[in-house]
Amino acid sequence: MAFVNSTGIPVSRIFAFCSRSLSSPLTNPFFISTLPRVPSCKFSITAQFSPPSSSPSSSSSMNTQVGFSSSSSRWRPMCLYYTQGKCTKMDDPFHLEKFSHDCSRDLQVNATSIEKKCSQNKDFFLVLDLEGKVEILEFPVLLMDAKTLRVVDFFHRFVRPSEMSEQAINKYIEGKYGKFGVDRVWHDTAQPFKEVIQQFEAWLTQHQLWEKKGGGSFTQAAFVTCGNWDLKTKVPQQCKVSGIKLPPYFMEWINLKDVYLNFYGREARGMMSMMKQLEIPSFGSHHLGIDDTINIARVLQHMLADGAVMQITARRYPESQKVEFHFENRVR
Ligand SMILES: [Zn+2]
Repeated sequence: MAFVNSTGIPVSRIFAFCSRSLSSPLTNPFFISTLPRVPSCKFSITAQFSPPSSSPSSSSSMNTQVGFSSSSSRWRPMCLYYTQGKCTKMDDPFHLEKFSHDCSRDLQVNATSIEKKCSQNKDFFLVLDLEGKVEILEFPVLLMDAKTLRVVDFFHRFVRPSEMSEQAINKYIEGKYGKFGVDRVWHDTAQPFKEVIQQFEAWLTQHQLWEKKGGGSFTQAAFVTCGNWDLKTKVPQQCKVSGIKLPPYFMEWINLKDVYLNFYGREARGMMSMMKQLEIPSFGSHHLGIDDTINIARVLQHMLADGAVMQITARRYPESQKVEFHFENRVR
């Protein structure tokens, strides 16, 4: 049984991550991490990883490597009440010690990392990585400035299925989030998809990225996803289930895997492969949406710093609902 601390989040959420010390401190010219962190156990650290000779990262300078500068610090999971605007323990030192309340800390960049960066067609990227196979359970979005590569803000909500019995939901959540120790926070915070979308639109409006009366599409921003599933399949399905019309801003997106294939000339099947090939250590729990979104954003930063141009890779036509892919070379 997981020990539950004063936050209500089982301590397994903390100890589920590798917190071993690094044998040799590494400096990090790309990410200025004020509180250096330790990578998860899934990959060895940069210094121990031997890339294949044709690794895309061989074309990268060390400026784009992620490193760690202290052997005494440890990785801290994000407070998932905080990411949803519901943390009530911001004045509790014990809680602040256990959980991170600043996801931009993992995504900091310095000036030299953007020297090679090309100008982009969009001003902002919205990195999105949904969770939930039957219905959407988690909707995390990171807003990144295309010029500075900095994270401007994030939007994160757990989503309550609308067509499942309470019993089925409990089983689904236990299976999906129990192993991360975040099923309690899910139950405490999850909201129906329709409400999440309303809040997301308010958030977009607040950032002046979208207005309802303006036609509903983005002009300065584009979604960035790892694969086509999120916006080609899952969001349209969930809109149907939740009885809402597919919002126009979901009609086009950038599939990072396709840009990766065309930019580096090498295929990566998923987020973990891209991270491994680019020698980016992973943090957090793979398949916890907010952690995956942060990791995908780090791949995006790395690619932009290497000089990649992010172009729309897929577009859905409103009348036919058909999706057209813009790249000939695609990850299939
Ligand atoms: Zn908190």
